[in-house]
Amino acid sequence: MNNLNFTSQYRCTKCHQTYSINEDILVCPNCLDEGILDIEYDYRKIKKVMDKNYFSNNHELSIWRYLPLLPVDEKYTKDTLRVGWTPLYRSHNLKKKYNVKALYFKDEGLNPTQSLKDRASVIACVKALEKNQEIISCSSTGNAASSLAGNASKLGLKTVIFVPKRAPIGKLTQLMVFGSKLIKVDGDYKAAYNLSKSAIDHYGWYNRNAAINPNLVEGKKTVALEIAEQLNFKVPDWVVTSVGDGCTIAGVYKGFYDLYKLELIDKIPKLLGVQSEGCSPFYDAFHEDRPLEETDENTIADSIAVGIPRNPIKGIQAVKKSKGTYVKVSDKEIMDSMKILGENEGIFAEPAAAACLAGFINARKENIINKDNSVAVIITGNGLKDTKNALKVIGEPILLDANLKDLIQYIERGEDKNE
Ligand SMILES: *Cc1c(COP(=O)(O)O)cnc(C)c1O
Ligand SMILES: [Zn+2]
Repeated sequence: MNNLNFTSQYRCTKCHQTYSINEDILVCPNCLDEGILDIEYDYRKIKKVMDKNYFSNNHELSIWRYLPLLPVDEKYTKDTLRVGWTPLYRSHNLKKKYNVKALYFKDEGLNPTQSLKDRASVIACVKALEKNQEIISCSSTGNAASSLAGNASKLGLKTVIFVPKRAPIGKLTQLMVFGSKLIKVDGDYKAAYNLSKSAIDHYGWYNRNAAINPNLVEGKKTVALEIAEQLNFKVPDWVVTSVGDGCTIAGVYKGFYDLYKLELIDKIPKLLGVQSEGCSPFYDAFHEDRPLEETDENTIADSIAVGIPRNPIKGIQAVKKSKGTYVKVSDKEIMDSMKILGENEGIFAEPAAAACLAGFINARKENIINKDNSVAVIITGNGLKDTKNALKVIGEPILLDANLKDLIQYIERGEDKNE
């Protein structure tokens, strides 16, 4: 089955012009990089294959479970890493603490390279195979890079990756282990992005830059498809995710939109977009009802430190259309949330993922989310990627002499220097 049969066309999110899905374009030829394309589907056709039985008879526990809703040729999906079908945990401890009807955590840290980015990267790799390209390139704050490197390695593709100077060492280590050609740019994410763009134009490599490539939001939407299915298609009132370029939240909206159009769910959850106080271009634009403006990238949450988001239209529209909102959180709230999540739910989140919980907590305090609401919080990436920042909140471990007396004294003092 060639699943491209289910895609109908591209539509430019800026000028709304449509293009055939067979055209070899990544962005709208009229609007260029501002003309991010959206992939539209033939829901009538999909409905014929994707009803509730489709799911109960489906034993594929990866994003390929949703093939009719993905713009890829099935033929190239056989040998990928296993991406997706991450657990959706029902929370008891934090549900009680924050007093909501139901609370869930979608642990994206359990993807093959430990972040939600794998959902997009594996699609980029499959598209590169379809197009017979051997080298894929992107710029990244870290996760897209390590994710692309891992997924490409499994499929025998080469990668050239541009990262800003501040990318955490855990993420860089990952991508070097995966054999990527690493270009560490002396500058911020904007600088890394611009250099990657020039290089991609120059060499003709396949472009995984998430915002630009419309296929990638389609990969990211599988997180929403899974949340819905894991809740037996009774979707929560709110879904929370942090926002950098805007592709993740756009993907979350798209996934629920698809299911709504297929009449598998009866509403689209409200989306809560979370940004960091030190870098909040979406938050500011959303609340001031104006286009996005460039901002500093001043936050501990490196994965959402994006001063010029590349997917502004989709990122704003997703929240607007869902009737949700944007909130922002401080670095301190992010780091506190990392601890709260770890101690209460057994999930270790990287800062950009802990930001999602921090956003939920703030929205709950402000009663944007109320006690009668059910909520799914996406934990977008694993904390082991950035232990240096985690140790700043948790404190260094205490060293004891190897004797029982000291141990007893330590335990009975109840002293915990970390408190
Ligand atoms: C990339 C990323 C995000 C934000 O996704 P965008 O598509 O850039 O908005 C959030 N959390 C983590 C861990 C990420 O890697
Ligand atoms: Zn256009």
